[in-house]
Amino acid sequence: MIRTRFAPSPTGYIHVGNVRAALFPWLLARQQSGKFILRIEDTDQARFVEGATNLILDTLDWLGIDWDEGPRVGGEFGPYTQTERRDIYMAWAQKLIDKGLAYADPYTPEQVQAFREEAKALKKPFLYRNHRPENPPAWDGSQPLRLKVTSPKRYTWNDPVMGELSAGEEVLDDFILIKADGLPTYNFAHIVDDAEMGVTHVIRGLEYISSIPRYLNLYEALEIEPPVLACLPHIMAPDGKKKLGKRDGAKSVTDYQTDGILPEAMLNFLASMGWNDGTEQELFSREELIEKFSLERVQRSGARFDEQRLLWMNGQWIRRLDIGDLYERIAKYWPECAEQASDEYKKHVLALVQDRLKTLAELPLMTRYFFEEPIRNDELISSNKQLAKLPNDERHELLQTAHDTLAGLDEWTAESIQTALNSLLETTGQKPGILFSLIRIVTTWAPFSPQLNDTLALLGRDTTLARIKSVLSES
Ligand code: GLU
Repeated sequence: MIRTRFAPSPTGYIHVGNVRAALFPWLLARQQSGKFILRIEDTDQARFVEGATNLILDTLDWLGIDWDEGPRVGGEFGPYTQTERRDIYMAWAQKLIDKGLAYADPYTPEQVQAFREEAKALKKPFLYRNHRPENPPAWDGSQPLRLKVTSPKRYTWNDPVMGELSAGEEVLDDFILIKADGLPTYNFAHIVDDAEMGVTHVIRGLEYISSIPRYLNLYEALEIEPPVLACLPHIMAPDGKKKLGKRDGAKSVTDYQTDGILPEAMLNFLASMGWNDGTEQELFSREELIEKFSLERVQRSGARFDEQRLLWMNGQWIRRLDIGDLYERIAKYWPECAEQASDEYKKHVLALVQDRLKTLAELPLMTRYFFEEPIRNDELISSNKQLAKLPNDERHELLQTAHDTLAGLDEWTAESIQTALNSLLETTGQKPGILFSLIRIVTTWAPFSPQLNDTLALLGRDTTLARIKSVLSES
């Protein structure tokens, strides 16, 4: 049975660049009816951020990436937080000591630094094992414990994403297993944990690829059968030149949540960065992703982070929601002026703008004029090339005719309004680009709106005519 995991370090929020390392192993576990494990890797005390674990868990919750074992849910291989597993690491470290494969590092950090500089001066790569002490002291826990690489050799392995890989002894070294503070390094702890937790597929970022030979060496020393080791391509900053990081403004996933991105869209977007199913299909539901995902179809080159694409996808996902569902999800985004409006009216408004929303947070901008009198903004006219050319008196005349025609309607429905608008095109001889834009602007004073007839129908006869009239009286 497949067991995959996500092993975040609680060093801050999860940004969009690294949550994919949770999504892909989760998809694989769900597809193969396996288990998805969550493990908190908090052994780097200097980088620990209070509250970060909860933030990470909440982010996964929002995305619907659920875990079968780990914090909040437990499981038979717990605890799932590394600082609570010290005894386990100590037991495995002892095994290595007993086999003569681990030893106490007697040097001070300054001495190790001096070795490093020596190697640099000789233009040789630094290898600690070239300085390995002949008679190390017995390990009493106050010094770092190091792995002893006894027979450096070349390793070859098959990464399902990156293909057949191989690296030689030049990268193998006596790395630290347990630090002087008593906590294990990532390099040691994750191998012990993955083995103890029965992880079958380790899927993580490309930054780990150069260390894989060291891990293979350690697996061998520990007599553990290595799991499948896969590395995911980087997500690149929008300029395509470097890896996306917090410093380049990579936002946290929860920022996107606040901005009104749907989890469906975020999931779809994350999956599409570096993966496709081999067809032109761009929109995938959670179920489709689970069905179609495969590590073999993850591309090797970096995927560019394109926020516009996320917005486009979000718009598509907003359109796919049924109106009741959308109404619930968008509840907190209504402008204040909508407070008194009835649910029925707000649902009408929402149905009209649903196709145009790219994020839930755009709702106020798109709908305010349905609830309160808009503020006149002449820039909307002057920035419209066709309207700007229309002399004032012609504009006035057009609006007067429109007002009178609309006022003469027997019934006020989207259909009757459309018929009136069409007849106005004939009587005035104007193009829709001028006539309809003008009516739309003076009744909404918004940069965009739904179809004109629908908008006017919902605004109601009195409001529509009053707004046109007010412009007539001012100009
Ligand atoms: N704790 C590591 C990180 O946050 C996890 C790497 C891994 O998945 O093994 O980068």
